[in-house]
Amino acid sequence: MSLRSRHFYVFFSCAFVLALALSAQQKQPEASPTPILGFSPQHATTEHQLESAFQSIPSPEKAREWLRAFTAEPHPAASERNNQLADFVAEEWRKQGWEDVTLRRYDVLHSRPRSVSLEMTEPVRFTASLREDAYDIDPDTKNPAAPGAYFGYSASGDVIGEVVYAHSGNPEDYELLRKNGISVRGKIVLVRYSNPYSYRGFKALTAEREGAAALLIYSDPAEDGSARGKVFPDGPWGPESHIQRGAITYDYIVPGDPTTPGWASVPGVKHIAPEEARSLPKIPALPLSWRDAKPLLENMNGPEAPKNWQGTLPIAYRFGGGVKARVKVDMDTSIQPYTVVEARLRGGELPDEWVLLGNHRDAWVYGAVDPSSGTASMMELTRSLGELKQSGMRPRRTIMVCSWDGEEYALTGSTEWGEQFADDLKKKLVAYINVDESVAGAATTAGPEGLSFSPAAVASLAPMLVEASKDVRAASGKSLYEAWRATSMRDLKASSPPFDSALVETRIGSGSDHTVFLNHLGRPVINLGFTGDYGVYHSVYDDYYWMSHIGDPTFEYHVALTRIWGLVALRLANADILPFDFSFNASALEQFLRELEQDNRGAPRRLSLKWLHARINEFEKAGSLMRDATARDLLSGSASPEKIQQLNQRLLQVESNWLDPAGIPGRPWFQHLLYSSRYTYAHLEFPGLTEAVEKQDWKLAGQQAALLEKALKRNTELLRSARSSWEKKQK
Ligand SMILES: [Zn+2]
Repeated sequence: MSLRSRHFYVFFSCAFVLALALSAQQKQPEASPTPILGFSPQHATTEHQLESAFQSIPSPEKAREWLRAFTAEPHPAASERNNQLADFVAEEWRKQGWEDVTLRRYDVLHSRPRSVSLEMTEPVRFTASLREDAYDIDPDTKNPAAPGAYFGYSASGDVIGEVVYAHSGNPEDYELLRKNGISVRGKIVLVRYSNPYSYRGFKALTAEREGAAALLIYSDPAEDGSARGKVFPDGPWGPESHIQRGAITYDYIVPGDPTTPGWASVPGVKHIAPEEARSLPKIPALPLSWRDAKPLLENMNGPEAPKNWQGTLPIAYRFGGGVKARVKVDMDTSIQPYTVVEARLRGGELPDEWVLLGNHRDAWVYGAVDPSSGTASMMELTRSLGELKQSGMRPRRTIMVCSWDGEEYALTGSTEWGEQFADDLKKKLVAYINVDESVAGAATTAGPEGLSFSPAAVASLAPMLVEASKDVRAASGKSLYEAWRATSMRDLKASSPPFDSALVETRIGSGSDHTVFLNHLGRPVINLGFTGDYGVYHSVYDDYYWMSHIGDPTFEYHVALTRIWGLVALRLANADILPFDFSFNASALEQFLRELEQDNRGAPRRLSLKWLHARINEFEKAGSLMRDATARDLLSGSASPEKIQQLNQRLLQVESNWLDPAGIPGRPWFQHLLYSSRYTYAHLEFPGLTEAVEKQDWKLAGQQAALLEKALKRNTELLRSARSSWEKKQK
C-alpha cells in the first residue's frame, strides 16, 4: 500500500471505529468477538476495531525517517545535539496532538573525557589509537564529531605499571591468577568483554577490589567480531577497530546521579561529595578495540593461560609478563543538565491511572540500535496514537510517554524522574513499558524465521502480552505470536514451540530504564525488543548504515515493535479489569523457588522453605479463583463500573505489596522482594533470600524467607477479600 492510500484508510477506519463505538453502546454485537483479557465482550469488539485502525498507521518509511533524524549526529547525554533532540521530540509530540508536553531538567554529576591515552612502554613502544576506522561506504564513520574511546565515570589518573591479562575480569579469574602466583595489586589489568554479557561496571568494581591500579577492557573477536560472522560494513559483527564504550558506574548498588542517591536531582537540590558516592569507580579505565589490545597481549612472555581463557586472535594468550604500559585518563566530572521529555494523552474516564511508555534518547555515538531504533519505534507509536486521538479516540486511562536522558550513564533520567514523582507513581502507575533497543539484530543474517522477539515482563503481565501478540502483524506476514513461537523453537533448539506461558522471559535484570519503576517503586514493567546478530554495540558502527543495510533494511521490525507496544499500551489503558494474572505470577514464583533450591542443594538442611512453598500455593489459589470469578461476571455483563473500579484499585495494590521499604540487604534503594539484579546486571529472583543463601548466612536467609512469606500472605488476603466483596455485590 502506498503512503497516500494508507493515510486515507486510516482516516476512514477511525471514523469507522467511532461509528462502531457509538452503535455498540446501543446494542450487543451479534457474533461474539475474540475475547481480550480484562475486557467485556462489548468493549472487546470496539477495542479490536480500534487496534486494527491503530495497526494500519505506522509505516516503515516513517520509521526510517525518524531513525535517520535521530542518528544524524553523535548525541551522548549532556551534548548540545542531545539537548536539541529533546526540543525536537517535544515539538513533534505537540504536533502529533499529545498533551501536557513538558521538559524536566535534572542537574546531575556527569562525566566526559578531556584526554585519554594508552602507551606500551616495554618491551616495545606502541601507542594505542583509541579511535575507530572510517569506511568510504559509510560517511558517518568519517564524522570528526564521533568521540574516541572512554568510559563514563572512569576515575582520572596516570598509571604506569605491568599489564596482566585477567580473562573476563570476574572474581574466579583473579582466583586463578592467585593460584598461579600472580597478584594484580598496583598493576594494569587487561580483561575482555565476555559472553554471556556481563556488565562492565562489575569488571571495574572487581578490579578495584583486587587492588588493580587501572583497567582495560577490550572486545575479543571471539565475542562480537570475526569469529561470529561477517564484520561491518559487510556484516553485523564488529570490525578490528570497533570500541565498546559505556559507563562503569556501580548502578547495581544505587542508580541515577551518583551524588543524589535516593532523591531527585532537581535544580538546587543537595548533592553529596563525589568521594562519598557508592556508585563511582575509583580507578581509571579504558575500552579498547582488539587491534589496540593485540600488541599488549602478543608481547607477554609469562605462563600460557588455560584453554578457556584463549580468545580467537592468532596468538597464545598468557597471564602477563614483560609488558609495561602507561594509562592516562583525564575526565571532566561536573554537574550538567539532563532533560527528560514528558507528554500524555489524558484518560477520558480514569485520568489518574497511568500507563507509561519510555525510551532513552542519549547514545554513546549515533546509537542506531541503542537507543534510536527504540526511539524510531516510539515516534511512530506516538504519531499513531496521536492520530487516533485527533480523530476522537481518547484512552480510558492516561497514556504517558517519556524520552529519557543519560540512561547510558547510570539509568539517570528515568531514575531521577521516578524519584521526583515517586508518590504519584506508586499510586497511579498501572505499568511501565520500556523499549531500549527495538531492533538489536540483523534481519539479513537471521535466517528464514527472522529476528527473535525477546520481551521480558513481570509474570503477572506475561499472559496479556502473549495474547496481544496474537493480534499483531509481524514482518513475515504471520502473526507476531506465530513468528515468536517459531524463533523460540529455533533459539531453544526444540522440536516443538514452548508453552505460551514460557514464551515470555519473566526474569528481569537491570541495565535499562525499567529499573526505577520495578525495583524502587514496585510497579509492574514490560521490556520489548527484537534481537539477533549484533556486534557493534556502543561503537561508531552502530549507525544508520548498519541499520539500513544490515539490521532492518525494510524497517518492518521497527513497525512490528510499534504495533505490539501500542497494543499492550491500549489494552492496559482501555481494559475494564486490569489484566494482571496472579495465578500465573504464583507459578513463576514457584519455579523461581525450585531453581533456588536446585542451585543450592545443601541449603534445605539449614533452612526450611516449605512454608514459602505453602504461601505461594495459597497465593496461586487466591489468584486463580479471583481471576475466574471476575472473568465470568465480565463475560455475563453483570459487573457494575463502581465494583470494577474497586477491584482495580486492589489489583494495583498487589504489585506494591512486593516492596520492602528497608530494601534488600546492603542495597536499600532496591526494595522489590521478588526482583533485583546481580552486579553483572543479570536477573536475580528473591534477591534478599538468594544472596543470603549463597553466602550461607542462614539467619539472614530465614529473615528474608519470612519477609517473603509475609508479603505473599498479605497479597493472598488482599485477593481473597477482593473476591469476596466482588461476589457479594454481584448477588
Ligand atoms: Zn540503551
